Amino acid sequence: MSLLKLENVHSYYGRIHALKGISIEVNKGEIVTLIGSNGAGKSTILRTISGMMHPKKGSVEYNGKNISQTAPHDIVMSGMVHVPEGRGIFPTLTVKENLEMGAFTLRDRSLTEERMEYGCTLFPRLKERLGQYGGTLSGGEQQMLAIARALMMDPDLLMLDEPSMGLAPILVELIFDIIKTLNDKGTTILLVEQNALMALSIAHRGYVLQTGEITVSDTAANLKNNTEVQKAYLGMD
Ligand code: ATP
Repeated sequence: MSLLKLENVHSYYGRIHALKGISIEVNKGEIVTLIGSNGAGKSTILRTISGMMHPKKGSVEYNGKNISQTAPHDIVMSGMVHVPEGRGIFPTLTVKENLEMGAFTLRDRSLTEERMEYGCTLFPRLKERLGQYGGTLSGGEQQMLAIARALMMDPDLLMLDEPSMGLAPILVELIFDIIKTLNDKGTTILLVEQNALMALSIAHRGYVLQTGEITVSDTAANLKNNTEVQKAYLGMD
């Protein structure tokens, strides 16, 4: 069943035509990945979905509702959270305060505590650092915080932009394991990754994006075996 559906979406930055007729679909329970070179438009797709920018043409449907022109905070309330590239944590707030900000719409204190506890179980490193300022965390810890903060909303759809960026290999594995765990527990995931091989190893399906257009759409297994994809994105000859 379709949770998210983009149809013929066109987005612009001023006169730059960044998305040129994007149609993609994410079904409930899936991990879908977007693969493409720098500047292909992957982040722009996520921004257009989460309402940070609005498409000039085409539609974005979430849970059967057209959200193309909906404000970002209303989209968050409908159960979708976007962890942007660069993570966007608050550097001058503590880890605990950052997590609380993630649950700003929750009135229920015990639910907030419960979700914070869950985030700390997934990332024990955060539990030891609840009082530390976000800005003083290492890059990997900031990524953990960004994901834990997103989970404070208990999203149905989690969109992650380059979660492995700048992380040591062992942390990359940890982050991917956690994405898989979240998916196993029922969260639908839309994942943008430079590390296409890792992304395809956990995804069900993927789309390849080139200068604002989808060029290939297939199962993750088929994309991994596609020689063009291997050459261009998986570093294989
Ligand atoms: P990367 O992997 O490098 O992050 P990406 O696939 O996520 O790349 P986008 O960030 O979506 O690519 O960018 C798509 C196009 O839109 C690029 O040509 C980029 O230069 C342009 N673009 C992105 N953000 C802006 C902006 N704020 N103003 C103007 N152009 C932008």
